[in-house]
Amino acid sequence: MNATILDGRVLAKQLREGLRAAILDFTATHRNAPALAVVQVSGDAASDSYVRSISKACEAVGIRFIHQLLPAGTAQATLEAVLKGLSANREVDGILLQLPLPSGLNAHRAVALIDPRKDVDGATPTSAGLLAQGLPSLLPNTPAGGMELLRRYTIPLAGKRAVVVGRSNIVGKPMALLLLHEHATVTIAHSRTPDLAAVVREADIVVAAVGKPRLITGDMLKPGAIVIDFGINMRDDGTMVGDVDFASAAEVAGAITPVPGGTGPVTNMMLLRNVLQAAQGGAIAR
Ligand code: NDP
Repeated sequence: MNATILDGRVLAKQLREGLRAAILDFTATHRNAPALAVVQVSGDAASDSYVRSISKACEAVGIRFIHQLLPAGTAQATLEAVLKGLSANREVDGILLQLPLPSGLNAHRAVALIDPRKDVDGATPTSAGLLAQGLPSLLPNTPAGGMELLRRYTIPLAGKRAVVVGRSNIVGKPMALLLLHEHATVTIAHSRTPDLAAVVREADIVVAAVGKPRLITGDMLKPGAIVIDFGINMRDDGTMVGDVDFASAAEVAGAITPVPGGTGPVTNMMLLRNVLQAAQGGAIAR
């Protein structure tokens, strides 16, 4: 293997320690810890486990965790009232609506009701618009974590060719914008892109945000390419693989995030950092 491993676990540990100290400081000054409210509609086991992991992560750094668990079958109007209430509540600094919502609930309408100053998932149309215009905003956690890894490993971005595979609002699109703001020349590929291998082969920086196990293989990479793999794909045997075939890619890449242990651990730290930033007055003045 030739590639440098971009180690998300090591970075997450450093970030956690820095956040714990900053939050202690904030809490001592303001007599109140920053508070994150997670709104969840019951019924999804994967969501349950994610919410538990957020709760633990909050506890580890001293953020107050408020779990607003709504019963399965909750009406859209009730969900919207809860989000409006939390947006207006001065005791709450950050709001995260756990997605996906059960069928019958409109996620877009619900997310849009979150006060953008508390939008710690960077999910509202306002946050997306601010990011698109290069204005200060709370960033979506997953792409923010990918950028943090690139920064910590001092990977040069200006003038580099970047290919982001995947165009979701929460991962692919914001990642492309963040790379663009760092002066990379960015291409976004998706399911209708013909000859994905030829597109990926042009990239100095390859970002995978697809949800297809091992879609990107070593033979698709330019030698020395930097590879950021956001993919989380659970296999039947309970193991997790990325969107990149790690074994073949690591032979060709200059640096690569492993799965697990790459982008995943950094994502939650970005959420916690957003909560602190929102509590401090945020990217957007409150
Ligand atoms: P989505 O399903 O919303 O988007 C997937 C994207 O991949 C779409 O834009 C789709 O194209 C594109 N795509 C699908 N098949 C192909 C293909 N064969 N070739 C090229 N592009 C393709 O997924 P998310 O963005 O929400 O998540 C992406 C991955 O990141 C998943 O594995 C998810 O589990 C993971 N994830 C990781 C997180 C982390 O912390 N590391 C957090 C959140 C997600 P089109 O638009 O044309 O349909």
